[in-house]
Amino acid sequence: MNRLVHGDAFAGTPVKSLADIEKVQPPGAFTRTIEALFVGWRRHFGWIQVLMFVVFLVVIGLPLLMPDPPAESGILTNPTLFLRYMLWGIWFPLVFLSVIVLGRLWCGTLCPMGAASELANKYGLQRAIPGWIKWEGTPALSFIIMTLYGQTLGVRDHPEAAAGLFGGTMLLAIAIGGLYGRNKRVWCRHLCPIGRVLGLYSRLGAVQFAPKVLLGGGDAYTERGACPTMIDLPRKRESRHCIECFRCVNPKAAGSMRLELRRPGVEVEEIRDHRANKAEAWFLFLDTGVALGGFLWLVLPQYQQMRQGLGVWAIQNHIDWITRVGPSWLMSVHPARAETFLWLDFLMIVGFMLGTMAVLTVVLACLTAVGAMIARKLGADGGFGQVFTELGYQYAPVALMSLIIGLGAELLNPLRDTAIGIEGVHVIRGGLFLIGVVWSIWLGDRILKRQGIDLSKRWLPLLPGIAGSLFVGFGWWPAIFGL
Ligand code: SF4
Ligand code: SF4
Repeated sequence: MNRLVHGDAFAGTPVKSLADIEKVQPPGAFTRTIEALFVGWRRHFGWIQVLMFVVFLVVIGLPLLMPDPPAESGILTNPTLFLRYMLWGIWFPLVFLSVIVLGRLWCGTLCPMGAASELANKYGLQRAIPGWIKWEGTPALSFIIMTLYGQTLGVRDHPEAAAGLFGGTMLLAIAIGGLYGRNKRVWCRHLCPIGRVLGLYSRLGAVQFAPKVLLGGGDAYTERGACPTMIDLPRKRESRHCIECFRCVNPKAAGSMRLELRRPGVEVEEIRDHRANKAEAWFLFLDTGVALGGFLWLVLPQYQQMRQGLGVWAIQNHIDWITRVGPSWLMSVHPARAETFLWLDFLMIVGFMLGTMAVLTVVLACLTAVGAMIARKLGADGGFGQVFTELGYQYAPVALMSLIIGLGAELLNPLRDTAIGIEGVHVIRGGLFLIGVVWSIWLGDRILKRQGIDLSKRWLPLLPGIAGSLFVGFGWWPAIFGL
């Protein structure tokens, strides 16, 4: 682990002398071997990304050319269902699960979208990056809008919707790359909805790239260096923006970056030293809430009752447009598959998801605020905002596990038809969730320790955090154990 002896990340101390520089211990032989392997393969990453682009076209495009699967078909007998399973059952949960071990390796080596955006940038206009793109809230807004849009389009059930959403996002990534930045991945740093979530959870990951000689001053944003995601390399201390492209690694150079392996979660345990960020903590609450809403409206009978109630009220009050069919670019209109959304459905889905997001955010924020107030009373080091932000990160594991269990539920579905059965699937999901809760509690304890609270007192400010983790679990209960 890197330790900076001078200059706190919050203070942003500039480098003044050699006293601000720390030389850190080199990693072991195993890490160096992996590093050498990837550095050797670095020049082939482009071809891997081209191959992934072809896979992307097949998974997104082929189902458009095939007839709808017959009712009795399964993933092993129907190519459309197989490709759908590849997308939602394999890619989606495994990319998120992989960050715990591999960090954002997906982004740097495999993702065709980021690579296409960067290629477009190479030959594009290379204009200055506008302020609205650099705004801290842009990636979170991007995630929320994409999640809402995916749900109203029915992206999981309709190949046209998946092609429209993923194809449209790809075009947008290429357009942004073609317009802004100079040899950079502006899309990946600021706008990609998946990248932002992967970035947050990569802080839990076992991989990081660290400077061999770490300068003081904390993380900074720079468009000058070699890093495609604008990381000021000699001051890099946080993992979230690193896409693991290996471009900054030169095993022979004394002053470059290098691969380091670490205990999963350690960056969050010591989040004070890794640029705890209040926007990121808030968006952890918001993202978890909107994803939960996107799952719950599909399964809760109360959602249908509310929909019915709003529909009846609208008809009684002569608000006729609400019962009309909406445009197919905005919502699911597939009469042949017996699914046609009205404006009523659109309003209900968006309203329900935003409402769930608001409730979860308020609950987690209140509990975190209570935890921060107690912690400060017990002598936590730092102002309320800082202590609150740091404690917000304790929910990262439980939120990640919930996301995987809830939105990546298809991953385990094939196991239902094996000896493991439905009960076994529930046990696996419950086990994953339990790991998330226990890990969150552990992180809460470590964060409080770093804030200077004695072991004997830590249980008290930890209680609101435990309640918050259990609340997240309560929300995802139907995904874990069924209704
Ligand atoms: S940030 Fe998004 S577009 Fe960029 S490499 Fe990662 S997943 Fe792909
Ligand atoms: S820090 Fe290095 S490995 Fe990470 S994105 Fe920047 S250049 Fe790539």
